[in-house]
Amino acid sequence: MSFRSYLQDHPRPLVWAWQLTERALGMLRGRFEKMGLERSTRAVGWIEEPVKRSLFDCQMCGQCVLHYTGMTCPMTCPKQIRNGPCGGVRADGRCEVYPERDCVWVKAIERSALTPWKEDIHRLNPALDWRLEGEASWVTFATGRDQWAADRASGSDQGKTD
Ligand code: SF4
Repeated sequence: MSFRSYLQDHPRPLVWAWQLTERALGMLRGRFEKMGLERSTRAVGWIEEPVKRSLFDCQMCGQCVLHYTGMTCPMTCPKQIRNGPCGGVRADGRCEVYPERDCVWVKAIERSALTPWKEDIHRLNPALDWRLEGEASWVTFATGRDQWAADRASGSDQGKTD
């Protein structure tokens, strides 16, 4: 088992790290809003990308849902589905596409039970807004930009422009 898998299977330190990060991002919100998405991404993306790539195999989708999915990145699913598992998951919990691998979503469900956000695994994640790919999700989270696709789908996006 890799160190990454071990850590994700024992996610307490990841939970603490996210709780601290969330607090820090709340304090940076105003600054991010003043700087705009592009400049803010340049300011923090160089830290976010290597840290999250090494810990979660992050693909920089720009709309992080790790804390809803047991600290397991849904973009590492070969189908990149945001709500899973898909109908192809095998009876032994393995992936349909790569049978030698565990299904990312089965792992997400198992791991979410070990976090304070276990109910959020039932949340319906909105379709990915591909315009945010490559942007820092720390910025889109802090400013609420990551919620625009969901707001649009629910009709509560008044006054928001791309
Ligand atoms: S959900 Fe997106 S931002 Fe979060 S770890 Fe996965 S690819 Fe990275």
